[in-house]
Amino acid sequence: MKKLVVLALAATAALAHAQGFPGSKPVTFVVPFAAGGPTDRVARDLGEAMRKAMGGQANFVVENVNGAGGTIGVARVAKASPDGHTLLVHHIGMAAAPALYRKLSYKVQDDFEFLGMINEVPMTLIGKPQLPANTYRDFENYIRANAGKLNIAHAGLGSASHLCGLLWQSRLGAADAMVTIPFGGTAPAMNALVGGQVDVMCDQTTNTTGQIEAGRVKAFAVTTAKPLSNHKLLKDYPTLQEMGMRGFDLTIWHGMYAPKGTPAPVLAQLNEALKKALKDPEFIKKQEGLGAIVVTDKRVEPANHKAFVAAETAKLKPVIEAAGKFAD
Ligand code: ASP
Repeated sequence: MKKLVVLALAATAALAHAQGFPGSKPVTFVVPFAAGGPTDRVARDLGEAMRKAMGGQANFVVENVNGAGGTIGVARVAKASPDGHTLLVHHIGMAAAPALYRKLSYKVQDDFEFLGMINEVPMTLIGKPQLPANTYRDFENYIRANAGKLNIAHAGLGSASHLCGLLWQSRLGAADAMVTIPFGGTAPAMNALVGGQVDVMCDQTTNTTGQIEAGRVKAFAVTTAKPLSNHKLLKDYPTLQEMGMRGFDLTIWHGMYAPKGTPAPVLAQLNEALKKALKDPEFIKKQEGLGAIVVTDKRVEPANHKAFVAAETAKLKPVIEAAGKFAD
């Protein structure tokens, strides 16, 4: 009986907590990469859609905590106060880092509450505007002819751009053809590419579409299994499979997470706002314009996303091991 009373009191307290949430304090999305990149962009647009979804009751702000392929930002959220005011918006790196790093200060499956998946985003292989190649074939030939002289930019070990570059180079059979240059995110990497300081990058379409359209970078291929036939610009680029890399299929996804121990009513409130935001026509239109697909329904269920991330790690581990490069 006593136990029941204690449980009932705890439940009431949790509910009261949720009722007071978010209060006047903003909700911070920790983005583990630099401002202006694909992860940052989705977080900022989603923050606005969630603000609307919560009837203007909550303000969402972004804090960029970049470094070490996103793992520094993830570690920050793992240790944050579990009150719903610090959340993580991250991508496939959530699943790739455990397969890549021998030591991580956090455990993905144990240290987080999963709020749900956000979107799926294809990647594009792009080069600096000064590259002489105009087609994927010419591009490959140029890389082979200039082995050791070219740079490939990425957002650190375990980032999406690193993963893509690693898989692509290993399939190219030219793993040492390019020197890798890590950045704190692909926004600064893009600046270096547009400026001609680095030669090549593979990045989400949410960062590359505008630059390709403006002619500031050259695009050579997309990383998805199927061509992006529905996109007015990206439909013109071949898939790596079409270019002979059988089975090459890389799509990046983003998800949202809270520190372990965040009260269930707060999580429920945030998940409800996330689901509503993912149906916001303005958010969907922006994402689709940049080549992304916003997910809904089952994929935004916390348990489903948690299982999906575990399955992605299991899928990526052998692929990363076969590609043959590790971090410490
Ligand atoms: N697109 C980046 C990556 O390669 C991260 C970012 O800046 O959002 O992982």
